[in-house]
Amino acid sequence: MNNAYKSKFQLLEEIQQLRTKLAAVKLTTENRTAELYKSEERFSLAMRGANDGLWDWNLETDEVYYSPRWKSMLGYGENELDGTINTWASLVHPNDKDMVLKKVQDYLAGQADSFEVEMRMHHKDGHQIFVLSRGFKVTCEFDDKPIRLVGTHIDITERKKAETFADNNAQILEMIAIGRPASDIYSAIALMYEERHPGLRCSMLELHGNKLLHGGAPSLPKEYCHALHGLENGPSVGSCGTSTYTGKRVLVENIETDPKWEKIKHLALPHGMRSCWSEPIINSYGKVLGAFGMYYNHPGLPNQEESNDLKSAARLTGIVMERDQAQKRIRALAYTDTLTGLANRAHFYQRIEKLIKTSDRHHHRFGLLYIDLDDFKRVNDSLGHDAGDKLLTTIAKRLKGTCRDNDFVARLSGDEFCILAEEINDDYAANLAQRCLDVISQPIKISNRKLTPTCCIGIAHFPDDGKNSATLVKAADTSLYAAKENGKNQYAFYKPELTHKAEYRFQVEQHLREAIEKQQLSLVYQPQVCINTGKIIGVEALSRWNHPQLGQISPVDFIATAERIGMIKPLTEWVLRTACSQAVAWKKEEAPILRMTVNISPNHFLDKEIVPLIKRILDETGMTPTELELEVTESVAQTDQRNLSILQDLKNLGVSLAIDDFGTGYSSFASLKHLKVDCLKIDKYFVDDILVDKKARLLIGSMIDMGYKLGYRIIAEGVETSEQLKILKNLDCRNAQGYLFSKPTNVNAILKLLNSNY
Ligand code: C2E
Ligand code: CA
Ligand code: CA
Repeated sequence: MNNAYKSKFQLLEEIQQLRTKLAAVKLTTENRTAELYKSEERFSLAMRGANDGLWDWNLETDEVYYSPRWKSMLGYGENELDGTINTWASLVHPNDKDMVLKKVQDYLAGQADSFEVEMRMHHKDGHQIFVLSRGFKVTCEFDDKPIRLVGTHIDITERKKAETFADNNAQILEMIAIGRPASDIYSAIALMYEERHPGLRCSMLELHGNKLLHGGAPSLPKEYCHALHGLENGPSVGSCGTSTYTGKRVLVENIETDPKWEKIKHLALPHGMRSCWSEPIINSYGKVLGAFGMYYNHPGLPNQEESNDLKSAARLTGIVMERDQAQKRIRALAYTDTLTGLANRAHFYQRIEKLIKTSDRHHHRFGLLYIDLDDFKRVNDSLGHDAGDKLLTTIAKRLKGTCRDNDFVARLSGDEFCILAEEINDDYAANLAQRCLDVISQPIKISNRKLTPTCCIGIAHFPDDGKNSATLVKAADTSLYAAKENGKNQYAFYKPELTHKAEYRFQVEQHLREAIEKQQLSLVYQPQVCINTGKIIGVEALSRWNHPQLGQISPVDFIATAERIGMIKPLTEWVLRTACSQAVAWKKEEAPILRMTVNISPNHFLDKEIVPLIKRILDETGMTPTELELEVTESVAQTDQRNLSILQDLKNLGVSLAIDDFGTGYSSFASLKHLKVDCLKIDKYFVDDILVDKKARLLIGSMIDMGYKLGYRIIAEGVETSEQLKILKNLDCRNAQGYLFSKPTNVNAILKLLNSNY
């Protein structure tokens, strides 16, 4: 049909159809362009970073596309993660998530010009990687609304590691510069390398002489560090022991099989260590100061990076070590008296301040001994300064030698020395002072002359005589003058009564030793009486010491002294022999006693020599074993299994056993059972109370009752009045001992009593 003949209507219809077609074409072209644009974008991004991962987030559908590289960066395969919901959210470090989302929002809202963020993400292997994420938004053509966010991921882990390492390095240098303690810096160095190589554990050892001392190893077990501390280095002493010995790097691939570890592998293997590489730490003069060790829990040798790090770690540690040792040397010089090697005045004051603080906190006492040589000036003037110096060094050595390791000895100036002694018992300072007087007064040959130096010592106590260093030193100095006033070779306390007490005690000690050796003690006997019949059933032997000058000394004092000075054994032996001989003699004189009891000190009783001693005495004296009773205090009942055999052996000899002062200690009837005790001596303390205290009566009553039921003999001690005796009788107590019957008396008086009744 010719256009000319077409109706107007037809034409209009055709135009409409063409319009519709055009519109359709336009639509597909638009779609195509968008599609094309999208893949072009991905392509260009892919090109931009060959190693970058791509992501594409459709903000309208919330779907995200992750490229294969994006996935592989996190350890996942191409087809993995596809079904995962919130893939990104599940892989980003929880602490970084909010920060990243905030940046996204700011960018989408137009508050930031670009989107670029560093974040931590979880790798499939479990470790963490650092990712740099960059993105840009794609907006809708018509209204500029963001419809997609497209971007890349770059793995920046290595860079980050290098940055942290550099940061840490800078921090360590700063620590060195501001003089932080070496141990802190050692830990920081170890942690820095451990952070850089996951699984690595570092150690730093210092070499002192030929001993390896712990420097730092924050990640190694304490037990292992303790075991290595003090180890001697050598040609095959693990990795560090060997490297410090040879001065060369030692790489041990397998601790289990390497011969160098043969002797000490049992220390490392239980803690999992399997390989150990060690670099000697060498100072600027080429001297080996120690070693840096790297441990892994698997066998292996270092790769290039680890090998380089081993070297730089040792170098860095070396700087710290060298500096630390130099500082220690300087400090030692500043605090040491160069002539004698003792601590000097400055060190003394530093120490006493410290000691005051800790003693105050723990309520401890300590003693300060101020020592001054007698006539030192004369030696210096007449024999010259060299002689004076020699005398001082000898005195210093002697003082040091007589002190415990804990005591602190210093030379304050010239011929003045001080000792700080933490009190382990009341008499420690006095004993120490006496020992110092003794050692100092040993003769010494100087310039071909024999001298007998002497000194005086003033003693003051913290906190009694002074609560700060100034008053305390003054108190000791005052005491020193008091000692000097008494003559040469003396000591004196700040409180005069203490000096007298100490002197007396010292004299007692001196004389007691002699008295025991020369058998100058004597025995008295106190009858034990059967309440019903009034007959003497036995006697208790008690020691007496009457010294020509010191007078009568209480056994309570001299027995304790004998224990302290180690003389209790000869004393007991003498008592046993004398008492047994006496019992045998009485028997011959037809004045039989049924039982002789002897007191044995708890310490001596638990000595394994007690059994042979008793046996020997029984044999020597001809004493009937069953007539000998040993008295021990309740503390023996607290004894352990080992001592039970001593008791059994004694029982086998046939001697019997009494618990002295029963009721004052902590023994129970239950603990007595396995001791195989024969007799309980109820302490005077209860007997004293029996008249006034109803409870005491009740207590004694039940002790007696229970004791008899368990088959023990019972003796009430210290009975002084007939009223006491009456009550005891009512309580069914059958035996008693005390002044009511007789004081402890000598042999002759006892003989008369034995033949009479009460
Ligand atoms: P102890 O074994 O409890 O001895 C009893 C003490 O009480 C004795 O004191 C005795 O004289 C005293 N006494 C006895 N009856 C009465 C009384 O009715 N009233 C008063 N007030 N006291 C009375 P002594 O002889 O002074 O002995 C004291 C402590 O010394 C003894 O206590 C004993 O533990 C120890 N002792 C004495 N001689 C020796 C010994 O040869 N070896 C051992 N290891 N210790 C001994
Ligand atoms: Ca006794
Ligand atoms: Ca007693």
